[in-house]
Amino acid sequence: MTSSSIPFFSQVKTFEKVWPDLRAGVDEIFADGKFSHSRQVGRLEKALEHYTGARRVIGVNSGTDALVLLLKACGLRPGDRVLVPAYSFVATATSVVLAGGRPVFTDIDPDTYAMRTEGIGDEEADGARFVLPVHLFSRMADMTALAAFAAGHGLVLLEDSAEGIGMRQNGVHAGLHGRGGVLSFFPSKTLGALGDAGAVLTDDEDLADHVAALRHHGRTGRTLAHFPGISNETLHVGHNSKMDDLQAAVLLAKLTVLDEDVRHRAVLARRYDEGLREVPGVTRRPAITGAPDEVFYVYLIETDRRDELVVHLHERGIGTETYYPLPLHLQPCFAELGHRPGDFPVAEAASRRAVALPLYADLTEAEVDRVCAAVRDFHTGRVSA
Ligand SMILES: *Cc1c(COP(=O)(O)O)cnc(C)c1O
Repeated sequence: MTSSSIPFFSQVKTFEKVWPDLRAGVDEIFADGKFSHSRQVGRLEKALEHYTGARRVIGVNSGTDALVLLLKACGLRPGDRVLVPAYSFVATATSVVLAGGRPVFTDIDPDTYAMRTEGIGDEEADGARFVLPVHLFSRMADMTALAAFAAGHGLVLLEDSAEGIGMRQNGVHAGLHGRGGVLSFFPSKTLGALGDAGAVLTDDEDLADHVAALRHHGRTGRTLAHFPGISNETLHVGHNSKMDDLQAAVLLAKLTVLDEDVRHRAVLARRYDEGLREVPGVTRRPAITGAPDEVFYVYLIETDRRDELVVHLHERGIGTETYYPLPLHLQPCFAELGHRPGDFPVAEAASRRAVALPLYADLTEAEVDRVCAAVRDFHTGRVSA
C-alpha cells in the first residue's frame, strides 16, 4: 500500500487562501516606494494590539531579538541573573546572555512542562533579578503562581511567549501577565511568516518606546536641534532589529485566518487525543486539561521508545520533530555554567522522551488518523517491517 507522505509542517494551502490579501500588501509596499519602516509594520502592530489586547506591540525581526531587546529595555545590567526553565528552545537562555545577563536554570513540572518554582531555593531566587517562564506547545505556565513567586522575591516577571499567540489565562493574553512578553512568527509557529519575524508586547508605554528605539539603532524619532527636519537622535546603543516589511504584509494576510487555523488545530488535537488515548506508553504533554484556552502550536507526546518511534514514522513518510533533544543546561554553549547530567532530571527525561507529531492548518483529520494508526501499530507491536 502506498500513500502520500505527511510532512511535519506545510503551509501551502494556507498561503493559497491568503494570497489575494498578501498580494495587495506587497503592491502597497511598491506603491509607497518605502522598503524599510513602511506602513505594513505599523498596521500589523495595530492589528496585533487588537488581537492580543496589548497596549503596545513592537514588530521586530525575530522572537529571539524580541527577547534580547525586552530584557535590555527592562534594565538588565551586565551579569544580572535570570531564572529560566532548563527545557525550552535554546533562545530562551541565549537571549539572556546576548542581553548581558546570566541564565539560572530551573527544572520543569513533569505534567505541564512549565517552570516549577517549588524547587527553587530562596538563595537562588533572591540572587536573581528576572524570572522568564516559557509557555510551551499548547498551554501557559501558571501565571498567578509565577506572579506571586516574582513578587515574593522582588523579581521582574517577563514571559517567553514566543509560542503563545492566541493563548490566554484569566482572560489575559500570553505575554501580558508581567512587564512584557514576546511573539515569534518563525514559519512553523501558529502565526508564521515566510521567514523570520517577531514582536514584543507590553502594556507599558515607556518600555514599548524603549524597545522601539532599540530595534532601530537606538533612535527615538526626535529631531536634533541643529538639524531640523531630520529625526536622527540616537539615545541608546541600539540594534538593527526592525521587522521586514514583506513579512509584515505576510502576517497581516495570515492574521485574517488565524482564528480559523487555531480552531482547526484544536479539532486535530482532540482527534489525536482520541486516537492515542488507549495506546500503552504514550502520554500527551503538556497533560490533557480540556481547558478552553488551550491553543495548539505543537502536538507533543512522551514515550519511552521515542527514537525508535521517530524512525518507524519516518519509514512511513510521517515527519516528526524532537522538541527539545538536549536540555539547555547540557548545551555546549552553556558549559561554563558547570552543569552535569542529573541536575534537572525532569527536563532531561522530557528531552529523551518527547516527540512532536504533525499539526498545522493544512493538515486533515484523515492524515491525523493515519499518524495515530502508525503510532498505535508501533506501540502495540504490530510493526510490519
Ligand atoms: C521560536 C521560539 C523562540 C525564538 O523565536 P525566533 O523567532 O525563532 O527567534 C524563543 N523561545 C521559544 C520558546 C520559541 O519557541
